[in-house]
Amino acid sequence: MSSGDQLLLSIWFIAALGILGLIVGSFLNVVIVRVPVGASVIRPRSRCPECNSVIATRDNIPVISWLILRGRCRNCSHPISKRYPTVEVFTALVWMGFGWWGLSTSVPSSWVNPLLPLVLALSSGLIALFVIDIQWHRLPNVIVYSLYPVSLIGFSVALIIERGSADLTLLVINSCIGALLWLGVIGALWLVSRGRAMGLGDVKLAPVLGAVLGWQSVSSAAIGLMAAFLVGAVTGLSLIAARQAQMRYKIAFGPFLIIGYSIGLVAGPPLWDWYAGLVKL
Ligand SMILES: [Zn+2]
Repeated sequence: MSSGDQLLLSIWFIAALGILGLIVGSFLNVVIVRVPVGASVIRPRSRCPECNSVIATRDNIPVISWLILRGRCRNCSHPISKRYPTVEVFTALVWMGFGWWGLSTSVPSSWVNPLLPLVLALSSGLIALFVIDIQWHRLPNVIVYSLYPVSLIGFSVALIIERGSADLTLLVINSCIGALLWLGVIGALWLVSRGRAMGLGDVKLAPVLGAVLGWQSVSSAAIGLMAAFLVGAVTGLSLIAARQAQMRYKIAFGPFLIIGYSIGLVAGPPLWDWYAGLVKL
């Protein structure tokens, strides 16, 4: 394949992920509204919270419908939250970003990173958890627990793709080290703070994120953790400074775990090299 063809294929691939991301984001909006209140994500059809009219399929096209309706219900003109198109566009951008990551971290046996299917599936659950944790200060078990079988399937797919061309034992061991590192640090903080610094949801989420980072490299798992605490500390201190709130002011930690994980995945190896040079490791 010529390099021109390759570029065209890459652009097509990332654009396709963007469209898929919009559709997934539209479903995540339903998850974000319904899961915290214990409602089904499948039934019934979405309704306008103001006039209770069923939202027609033509008014349910990600972003486009919101723009055509100028952010208002077709029936009663009640404003529709900007959160809907925001989550859809954000999910599309995340899927495109990870698509680019997948292409730029290909392995000898695959033109795209074998972890990409898992990373995309996880990113969707993590976007829902991110918004729900900020709004409700909790990470619903039904979402966190579902990430476990999803990860098992995703890792199995990656193992099958990489068989014969990579040291599978090393990948599995690194992945376990990453999971234990994240579980150990977050679990210890949960114990020491008696659940005040972290929730139990954070402890349950941590090993999944650590396992994915560890698969890439143990240093990525370390960088991800450091990034989570750094971003958490900076955000916490700015919130305290801005609102002059007390140290007791409660900030959900789940979003920082998710941000740290994303930084570790996309920028872990170069950041580790830079950090190792800094402290002369
Ligand atoms: Zn309405």
